[in-house]
Amino acid sequence: MKTMQVNVVTPDGSVYDGEVNMVSVKTTEGELGILPNHLPLVTPLSIGPVRIKKDSQVQLVAVNGGFMEVRRDEVNILAESAELPSDIDEARARAAKERAQRRLDEAKKDNIDFSRAELALKRAINRLEVVGGK
Ligand code: ATP
Repeated sequence: MKTMQVNVVTPDGSVYDGEVNMVSVKTTEGELGILPNHLPLVTPLSIGPVRIKKDSQVQLVAVNGGFMEVRRDEVNILAESAELPSDIDEARARAAKERAQRRLDEAKKDNIDFSRAELALKRAINRLEVVGGK
C-alpha cells in the first residue's frame, strides 16, 4: 500500500509524524481526503478532527484551524493547537464547552465576545469528539 509522510505541527512542536495511507481533514470548504500522490495544494482548515489512516488503524487528532500543505508524498498540517486523544483533558474541554455556551447565551450576536465564544465552543466540541473516538 502506498504511503506518504504526515506531519502535524504547532508552535509548541510536533504532535504527530508518520508514514500513513490516508488523511482526512475538514477544510473551510468541506471534508477532504488525501491519498499519496495527491496534487499539490495549500488550504485553510476548520476546527475539526483530522483522521489519519495507517494500515487498518485510525489516529484522530484534534486540530484547531491552521493550514494544510499537500505535496506528492508529504502532508504538513500547521495549527495554532493540536492534540492527540491521550493528551486531551476531557474535564477541561467539558468546562470550556459549558463556559463558551454560557457566554453565547449572554453575548449579543454582533459582538466580538460572541465570535470568541463560538470559536471556543468549536474547539471544546472538537476535543470532546476526538477524545470520544468519533
Ligand atoms: P481552554 O479554555 O480550556 O484553555 P482553549 O480552547 O481556549 O481551551 P487553546 O487556546 O486552543 O485552548 O489552547 C491553549 C493550549 O492548551 C494549547 O497548547 C492546547 O493544546 C492546550 N489545550 C486546550 N484545551 C485542552 C484540553 N482540553 N486538553 C489538553 N490540552 C488542551
